[in-house]
Amino acid sequence: MKIIRHLDHQGRIAHSELQADGTALLLKGDIFEGFQSTGKQAEVAKLLAPLAPIQILAIGLNYRRHATEMGSKFPEYPILFIKSISSLQNPEDPIFLPRHLRSDRVDYECELAVVIGRTCKNVSAARALDFVLGYTCANDVSARDWQKNAGGGQWCRGKTFDTFCPLGPYLVTPDEIPDPQNLKLRTLLNHTAVQDWNTNDMIFSVAQIIEFLSGSTTLLPGTVILTGTPHGVGMAAQPPRWLKPGDIVTVEIEKIGLLTNPVLEEELLSTP
Ligand code: ZN
Repeated sequence: MKIIRHLDHQGRIAHSELQADGTALLLKGDIFEGFQSTGKQAEVAKLLAPLAPIQILAIGLNYRRHATEMGSKFPEYPILFIKSISSLQNPEDPIFLPRHLRSDRVDYECELAVVIGRTCKNVSAARALDFVLGYTCANDVSARDWQKNAGGGQWCRGKTFDTFCPLGPYLVTPDEIPDPQNLKLRTLLNHTAVQDWNTNDMIFSVAQIIEFLSGSTTLLPGTVILTGTPHGVGMAAQPPRWLKPGDIVTVEIEKIGLLTNPVLEEELLSTP
């Protein structure tokens, strides 16, 4: 099943099940507590990120060729960092290049995102996928200047600007993705592939990541886990390839879909 979250023409938020012809049927219930189709056609006025995460956990340097392009050793344990939930962005809405706290080195990262569906703690890798509600595409947008040099030695500042976590377009349930370790994923920058690889290159599998993150730690429903990006990031290109206003970035993952966002400059407005 492919689940979408969207607005109807009255501005109400709903979840619906995408049909093969592109229409959608309204779901009733809660995507975490249990839901069923109403059989009613949904009014999809605007697509939203497929859930409002309660937390966004992310794993760094988790693809072998990406670790190599960064000149890094393969990590001994998954490298955890956190993206703020306010960095969430919908499909088709803009990625804003930070201008108030300026960055001139904003980069894309295509990533398989995993949504936790049930509370879990201390789960083994063998059971970990039982707690997955579904999978979607993420773009772990990263301001490399704030990640690398100006962020005090950790990555959160550079990865948590507004709009730096586009998510979607669909939440795909695990019956359609029995093996998350064999999915092609790529980034298209202005329709040209700049990352093009497969989740079979992950150092730590989705199941191993959930085992690690749930160790002595409760994972709640609505937690989103970004599982790392393959090689081909803009920072590693010669010369580096930074996002600029007018760019169009698409993350595509096999069996999930295409997550597309235009790139614009942040307007210099502050909260009144
Ligand atoms: Zn990443």
